[in-house]
Amino acid sequence: MFSIQKIFISPTILTNGVIMRIVFLGPPGSGKGTQAQVLSQKLHIPQISTGDLLREGVDQNTAIGQKAKEYMEKGGLVPDSIVIELVRERIKDENSFILDGFPRTITQAQQLNRLLSRMNMPLDCVINIDIPLEPLIERLSGRLTCKSCNAIYHKTYNPPQKEGICDVCGGELYQRSDDTEAAITHRFETYKAQTEPLISFYSSKNILITIDGTQSIDDIAQKIEQEVTQYQRS
Ligand code: AMP
Repeated sequence: MFSIQKIFISPTILTNGVIMRIVFLGPPGSGKGTQAQVLSQKLHIPQISTGDLLREGVDQNTAIGQKAKEYMEKGGLVPDSIVIELVRERIKDENSFILDGFPRTITQAQQLNRLLSRMNMPLDCVINIDIPLEPLIERLSGRLTCKSCNAIYHKTYNPPQKEGICDVCGGELYQRSDDTEAAITHRFETYKAQTEPLISFYSSKNILITIDGTQSIDDIAQKIEQEVTQYQRS
């Protein structure tokens, strides 16, 4: 919800350049994208957002973008096979990454496990941002995103200094086409039915970290950093 240049980044307690593979889970509007960006900057490992990759495909009118567009605009999920292929291609040369918005279904999680075990690089931890769904509609309907750098703002709670312009890079801000009330409602239903079951999936693997998502952005970022440290392999 908030542009990351305004976030206080605490003195790093995690070693820079660590090798870690992390997944962020949470409902739409929970702040997982913001927290994934903060952690990515702290650890110097790439944040991979399937939503951003798919939106890029739609903007550039690629074959994947053309297939994904309709699902995304309605707030539904893009078919597993498309998203899994996108992730496989994106991570094939990485040994560290933060996945934001993937996996979103049990099938995606199982396929990710298979892929990572073939590459001999298992997930280190999964961060679940726990937050009630009700207040999130307001957050999402006021959200603004930068077309160039994907920094996130809110019309009321975190407006840019100059209307419509990104504070970080001067890019143009826009409202996502799936941040309408109908699409938001559908995204919540989809989250409940398809993505929430991943909480017990990863809990049973003992790699789940649950974070209270109702706190301030800085507090959440610090909690995440403390927790993630414990999953860092030496
Ligand atoms: P996000 O930016 O994460 O909110 O994603 C925006 C939209 O992209 C979602 O509502 C889905 O339509 C699509 N999407 C992103 N990630 C996935 C995924 N892992 N599986 C299926 N669809 C996805």
